[in-house]
Amino acid sequence: MKIIAIGRNYAEHAKELNNPVPTTPVIFMKPDTAILKDNKPFYHPDFSEDVHHEIELVLKISKEGKHINENFAGNYFEEIGLGVDFTARDIQQRHKEKGLPWELAKGFDGSAPISNFVPKANFKDLYNLNFKLDINGELRQHGNTKDLLFSFERIIAFVSRYITLKKGDLIFTGTPEGVGRVKIGDRLEGYIEDVKMLDFYVK
Ligand code: MG
Repeated sequence: MKIIAIGRNYAEHAKELNNPVPTTPVIFMKPDTAILKDNKPFYHPDFSEDVHHEIELVLKISKEGKHINENFAGNYFEEIGLGVDFTARDIQQRHKEKGLPWELAKGFDGSAPISNFVPKANFKDLYNLNFKLDINGELRQHGNTKDLLFSFERIIAFVSRYITLKKGDLIFTGTPEGVGRVKIGDRLEGYIEDVKMLDFYVK
């Protein structure tokens, strides 16, 4: 399986990092070794002084497809979950300045904690979904899918023009504003609406 992630998919987040609001989706990938499940602790890497949390809704691809038409793209995911796209912002910044790729900042071990997945049919409106991240009991990020720049269908159609999607692949759909540093000892709790999906510690 593979993990595809969308950068800058919420305008307010693009602006907080002084990035332009994109006109086509920005994508990058993480290896499967980035995945952390079952609320296992995230071990803070020693190569970064500035690992940021990015809370994101995650799609689980339910069948193989390439060149998927946007009108039918909704048929390619049945479940959604919540994830954190941990980002070594200091490494990413240095690489951005040199025009280098982001893998070391985005793809390191444990950089993709994910929740269990739930049927999308559980939700009345996929484009009015609140999700949030609390750290040590304090609200740090809140997003609503009505603010997505590129819809889930648009993302699937776009990505599958280039990369065949397979059953079980995950798509991180972008973070809202409020990203910031995590430190050892922090407790991260993530919610979709009022349902707690993530609850783990930084060690
Ligand atoms: Mg992200």
